[in-house]
Amino acid sequence: MPNDEYKQERWNLDDLFPALDSTEIEEAINVLEADVASFEELRDRLSADIGQEAFVEALDQYDSMVRSISRLIAFAEMKFTEDTQDQVAQSFQARMYQLGADLDNKTMFFKLWWKGLEDDEAEPLMDASGDFQYWLEAVRLQKPHTLSEPEEKIINIKDVNGSVALNTLYESITNRYTFPLEVDGELKELTYGEAMVYAKSPDANLRKAAYQSILGVHEQDVPILGQIYQYRVRDWLSENVRLRSYNSPISVRNLRNDLPDDLVEMMLEICVENASIYQRFFRLKAAWVGMDKLRRYDVYAPVVKSEKSYTFAESAEIVLASFDKFDPKVAKLARKVFDEHHIDSEVRKGKRSGAFCLTVEPGLTPWVMQNFQGLTYDLTTMAHELGHAIHSLLADDHTALTQSSSLPLAETASTFSEMLLIDELLEQDPDPAVQRDLLFRQMDDSFATIQRQAFFAMFEKKAFELIEGGASVDDLTDAYWENLQTQFGDSLELNDEFRYEWSVVSHFYNVPFYVYAYAFGQLLVLALYKQYREEGESFKPRYLEILSTGGSDSPVRTLERAGIDVASPDFWNGGFQVVDEALQKLEAMPVEASSSNGKNDTK
Ligand SMILES: [Zn+2]
Repeated sequence: MPNDEYKQERWNLDDLFPALDSTEIEEAINVLEADVASFEELRDRLSADIGQEAFVEALDQYDSMVRSISRLIAFAEMKFTEDTQDQVAQSFQARMYQLGADLDNKTMFFKLWWKGLEDDEAEPLMDASGDFQYWLEAVRLQKPHTLSEPEEKIINIKDVNGSVALNTLYESITNRYTFPLEVDGELKELTYGEAMVYAKSPDANLRKAAYQSILGVHEQDVPILGQIYQYRVRDWLSENVRLRSYNSPISVRNLRNDLPDDLVEMMLEICVENASIYQRFFRLKAAWVGMDKLRRYDVYAPVVKSEKSYTFAESAEIVLASFDKFDPKVAKLARKVFDEHHIDSEVRKGKRSGAFCLTVEPGLTPWVMQNFQGLTYDLTTMAHELGHAIHSLLADDHTALTQSSSLPLAETASTFSEMLLIDELLEQDPDPAVQRDLLFRQMDDSFATIQRQAFFAMFEKKAFELIEGGASVDDLTDAYWENLQTQFGDSLELNDEFRYEWSVVSHFYNVPFYVYAYAFGQLLVLALYKQYREEGESFKPRYLEILSTGGSDSPVRTLERAGIDVASPDFWNGGFQVVDEALQKLEAMPVEASSSNGKNDTK
């Protein structure tokens, strides 16, 4: 099918179910419930001498239940995405989430049993498990830090009213906040999401007012929010470092990501060493938004946008051409998403905002959602989401448990595809406004994903140290302020209220040390991209090998097999060289300052 026939349309979900009220759905739920009941019968027969054949049979059953619930939840989520105001879709989604949680609870015994086996008992079973092997290995990674059954039970019971309750309390307090902001002479009470839109406004005064409102409201409660954080950190230290014998607070997360401690440390250090790249970027951005010096309020200030727009068919053609140039096999996979009508690109009232790619199970082409409006941004989004689809399709011969890669590698194909498109556009479109849009987007993204997240992780490390030594909430605020000073240097005016920003970051409370995985993933792709530029053809099979592995091996082994030495600082510094090159291109462009940004009341 020629590309010019690709049209903006609603996706087709017939590969899953015909409709929300179809008998097929009720049948699928009945079959799944029967499968779960029969799997539960396994509970009494589980023992170290279950035998290879019965073990593999159990794994296949488990895999099949995961596929079933995945299809039901995917259908529910996509119907809800089509129309978030649809009451039927809303309640069906809630029902499927409940079904998923029940399934988890009822089958949890299997993973617990597996984790409890001794190494010599697990080994012969593991040997027979084929593609399930890494999934099984990953479950057992926690074994050295697992306590006795009664201890684990007590922790579970106490957590519900302990650390889990603390997180709920943090969410309850902060979700009640409204942020007062005067917009066009009218005083509004905004949610966090709404206020953040104004923090990125072209109007400098509005950006400042939005940040002051958000941070001011949090500042009032910092004594309480800070206490919650201290309890959360102390609980993490007592449980994980003292009782479970992890080396350090961050090791807990590293093991869940299956990344070695020293690798994560090195990556973070390299991020800190390269802070000056973003400092240069902020100096340059000041000129583009018509200021002598950027304030912290202006970090996400928009620069003048190019007027250029593309039709959907043109966009599909350009994106696919950039894939085709890399490897026709990759482009062919992306084409499946269009040809099977698995992409919902229309802008419709009630449709969910943003974009995503949803992988359901091996054998099914993933679904892509975006709200396409024809701007350069929409092209990079299309390339990004199709990249996710390519990743899943390349890993299509794995099981449902091993198809999708773990967090550190999850954004590999998506970010890489964006880079392919950006290079294609930079090469083909001489329009300087388009080039500028692309390069600014690349810089904004890499700041938000790499630098900001790495410095968040550095703050968390410091905060854990301080709290262990009995630090007060004010000490934490001071430590965060120091962290910002290191990050920004004198490249911008650091506005005082940002010292309370740490109390806004819910990841610190909900999932300690989660944030560094963003930096890891993005930097990894930039480093890979640098190798591609240098090596050309010979790089391709190695890259495709990484993607085809999906989630069937550990991140480090997957990269090692592709000849990538993640232990070498040069590899990671290579990622920053790509950012540096993009910045140099921007630095070489004549500045066109946008006038509305110049309303800077501090200058
Ligand atoms: Zn993504």
